[in-house]
Amino acid sequence: MNVYIIGAGVSGLIAAFELERSGNTPIILESSDRVGGRIATDLHEGFLLDRGFQVLLTAYPEARRYLDYDALNLKFFTPGARIIHPGNSYTISDPMRNPSQLISMILSKVGSLSDKLKIRKLNLELSRKSIDEIFESPSLTTLAYLKEYGFSSKIINNFFKPFFSGIFLENELNTSSRMFQFVFKMFGEGHAAVPEKGMGEIANYLKNKLTHTEIRLNTPVLSIEGPKITLQNGEIIEAEKIIVTCRPDLVIDQLKGEFKPSRSVYNLYFSLERSFMIQPLIALVPDEKFLINNLVFMTDVSKYYSSSGKALLSVSVTKPVKNEGSLVDLIKIELEALSGISAEFFKHIKTYKIKEALPQVDDMKANLPFTNSKLNDHVFLAGDYMLNGSINAAMTSGRKAAEAVILSAQNPF
Ligand SMILES: Cc1cc2nc3c(=O)[nH]c(=O)nc-3n(C[C@H](O)[C@H](O)[C@H](O)COP(=O)(O)OP(=O)(O)OC[C@H]3O[C@@H](n4cnc5c(N)ncnc54)[C@H](O)[C@@H]3O)c2cc1C
Repeated sequence: MNVYIIGAGVSGLIAAFELERSGNTPIILESSDRVGGRIATDLHEGFLLDRGFQVLLTAYPEARRYLDYDALNLKFFTPGARIIHPGNSYTISDPMRNPSQLISMILSKVGSLSDKLKIRKLNLELSRKSIDEIFESPSLTTLAYLKEYGFSSKIINNFFKPFFSGIFLENELNTSSRMFQFVFKMFGEGHAAVPEKGMGEIANYLKNKLTHTEIRLNTPVLSIEGPKITLQNGEIIEAEKIIVTCRPDLVIDQLKGEFKPSRSVYNLYFSLERSFMIQPLIALVPDEKFLINNLVFMTDVSKYYSSSGKALLSVSVTKPVKNEGSLVDLIKIELEALSGISAEFFKHIKTYKIKEALPQVDDMKANLPFTNSKLNDHVFLAGDYMLNGSINAAMTSGRKAAEAVILSAQNPF
């Protein structure tokens, strides 16, 4: 079967893998000069810079299916978070994993005893709920869900808001409570990790599993009409089946205007002589006045992120930025206020503005019947936007689209 896949992100690589497993030799058309899509690591001035701070949650069922964690040499974050206020920082053990360890002293800063009991209850409930059940539950905003659950404003503002804003890439916790429950469950049942040589290794690993797939890089697709693919260079390709993993509204006329704009994030990197954290922890900045949402010393997690021995600090900004020109200086001032280390010691390395970071999905799902992947007899859809913005969802969607292609060739549906 002559199958083309548009896009070599995680969903495209998984679709190719599944097609190969059923004896096909797919061709991937990728617009950029590399595989991995939104998962990428750049080598820059001796530092490994992930394009946007992101983590692999080891409990993701699809990641367990497709990745070999030992081969990726995963490095793990310490469960929990460091809450940083100017002149006052403290570590909380992971409430999603071991709520009983939320000792009262720390808890009095983050929340109340009643919050502790509720976290324990939520933890237990979610450990008993399957992922499918979570995504079939009613969808309200995460903020409404937390309030309905009875959590205090204190714990919402000090922990849930900064932690989940950094994951959802929005600051109001408007994201569906299904996604909140899913992520909470995943943090509770596994670890947050990165491959020792950067997130991009996930894409390289998936690419190296492909033995019968041709990957054409620097090959942007302009449009798709039935079985006809038109490349930006004017070349026309006739395909039997096409799996579109990029945003389909950009290449298929009939879907134009059907997608909301994606969520964006700024990711700034700085080097410093040494880390000011004691453990590889994600640090959260709850104070609304600060632009910084979270900061992480990537070199505390894996020393390979820096070849010079200097510490590499990743800073994420999810709030709107009024003046991009002064962003670096503002962040340095904030870093000084948060760490007590003079701004001049933070050497700026690079800033990424990631415009299309996460899709806005109204009806978040964990799964979809493979028939849903089919747009018409020739075109099938994949991509995280079909389910929810995560590596797990991208993998599921790629697998389902491949299944749909294979079945439709045997037995048209
Ligand atoms: C900053 C950031 C933080 C994140 N944090 C996390 C996290 O902590 N945990 C988590 O699980 N997930 C996280 N994610 C989400 C995760 O990275 C994505 O869900 C996943 O990578 C999406 O894969 P995909 O294959 O669906 O899409 P993409 O990776 O976007 O792949 C689409 C591919 O299509 C190509 N393409 C686009 N247009 C064309 C065209 N016209 N012709 C040919 N090719 C084209 C693109 O170049 C790209 O390679 C994060 C993402 C970002 C950006």
